[in-house]
Amino acid sequence: MSNLYKNIDVTKFRNEPVFLLEKFNLLKIPVDLTELAKFLKIDQVNYKNCENNLNGKIEYKAQEKEVSIYINEDEPKTRQRFTFAHEIAHFIYDIDFQTDKDMLREDAKTLFRKNMFNPIERRADKFAEQLLMPKELFEIEVFKVKDKLFPTLGTDLGVYKIYQISSELSNLFEVSKPAVFFRLHSIGIIKESMRKELFEYHK
Ligand SMILES: [Zn+2]
Repeated sequence: MSNLYKNIDVTKFRNEPVFLLEKFNLLKIPVDLTELAKFLKIDQVNYKNCENNLNGKIEYKAQEKEVSIYINEDEPKTRQRFTFAHEIAHFIYDIDFQTDKDMLREDAKTLFRKNMFNPIERRADKFAEQLLMPKELFEIEVFKVKDKLFPTLGTDLGVYKIYQISSELSNLFEVSKPAVFFRLHSIGIIKESMRKELFEYHK
């Protein structure tokens, strides 16, 4: 499997996405994925209405040495951003730049289904989550928002208040509320039980 794309060794981007963002001076919110794609020399990012259930896809044409990402523009903006970040993850991890044609399609079944066991998809989701909500920035914003909304309270907040904080974070980072719940949990700010409560409340 070749990891060389336009003389860029993509394996060097496989550590924490925060380093990738720092490298290109993009560590600020909301994370600018369009700029990032340019730095990575991804040729095309197309927003279009895709067939049913398709969130997006990434396509590689070896002869042209061309990578194209497609994002379903009929979906909510936050979903589009998650798809975009997820496709960037596939670009970094999962494309063989030697083979003739490589295409990964994302439909509602494969994208952002954390309970589904597909290691490639899970890895792309995890990367997307870290890319859109880098730990360093996210932690700072969590406490800023908390102090803004509930200045007199301590950190032991119930589901309703955490939901309000999540809602504000979702606006700041331009991600969905469920994505925020996952991130709050993955960086250890809330427990698994609270994450579940938030999902219940969100329904
Ligand atoms: Zn995928």
